[in-house]
Amino acid sequence: MIYEFRVNDMAREFGVHRNTIRNWIKSGTIKATEGPGRRYLMEWSDYQALCKRFGKTPNSPVTGPQPAGNQKKSIEPVRLKSKKTRPHPDPSWADVCLTCGTCASACPIAGIDDLDPRKVVRMAMLGMTEELIQADWIWKCTMCAKCEEACPMDVKIVQLIRKIRSLRPRDNVPGPVHKGVVNCLERGNNLGIPKEDFLFLLEELGEELAEESCPGFSTPVDVRGARILVTVNSKEPFAEPDDMKWWWKIFYAAGESWTISSENWEGVNWGLFSGDDEALRTIVGRIVDNMKRLNCQGLLLPE
Ligand code: SF4
Ligand code: SF4
Repeated sequence: MIYEFRVNDMAREFGVHRNTIRNWIKSGTIKATEGPGRRYLMEWSDYQALCKRFGKTPNSPVTGPQPAGNQKKSIEPVRLKSKKTRPHPDPSWADVCLTCGTCASACPIAGIDDLDPRKVVRMAMLGMTEELIQADWIWKCTMCAKCEEACPMDVKIVQLIRKIRSLRPRDNVPGPVHKGVVNCLERGNNLGIPKEDFLFLLEELGEELAEESCPGFSTPVDVRGARILVTVNSKEPFAEPDDMKWWWKIFYAAGESWTISSENWEGVNWGLFSGDDEALRTIVGRIVDNMKRLNCQGLLLPE
């Protein structure tokens, strides 16, 4: 027989923190394997032994052989009609959706321009791939993952949305997102700010900061061996340059060792939002290269 449990429930049951249960699973103290919908499965005998250790009466097994005449009718999962939107071959993917709507309740922007994570899952299940690819509302999602976090069945909603976005022809990607990706790949940042302008701005802001409140400050660019590599959201040098100074003031007060790269300094990866895996990888790879080139130990992505 198998005992099926959720980490939170078991933590409550045994009066320990949920991280303790996770650690026990990781270390093998609890011999459990992952089951569907964030549940774990363990041998009934192991569960009984655990109860004995804690001096408690075992619950009934949730799954496993049922007494004759009390067999539960198994529910056949609905299978995806189209494999195109399936982000990975996990057989329990959206097939397990209960249509409970918890994802929609958790989404901070559900209802805006028709976005609704439950609808996305249902449409994918029903094979409405073309409708999803053509829908502009799917691009309103910020990929905050609150829907996925709330889903009791662990449906990979964000991966699904990314997959759908990746299927839209690139020249048809709405708004500035794809343009930002192209700019970033060609010019090192989403807004295509030239290197000379960026360096000039950093120098000027550094001088201002030294005069205003941080005597002796100068903006550290390409400092080899600095502890932290700081990336920048191109929106800041473009439209709100003074905002960068808040970070710098904190570093100054903390005596932190940090630097900004003169090349490929963009901290916002729109390859992530547009579902463009190749661009995502390239942009991340450049940051890794900067880390290696400047021999930094830590990375700050203010986004
Ligand atoms: S929360 Fe999960 S199970 Fe419920 S409707 Fe959304 S995707 Fe389906
Ligand atoms: S990831 Fe998208 S759909 Fe999910 S909660 Fe965030 S905005 Fe809503």
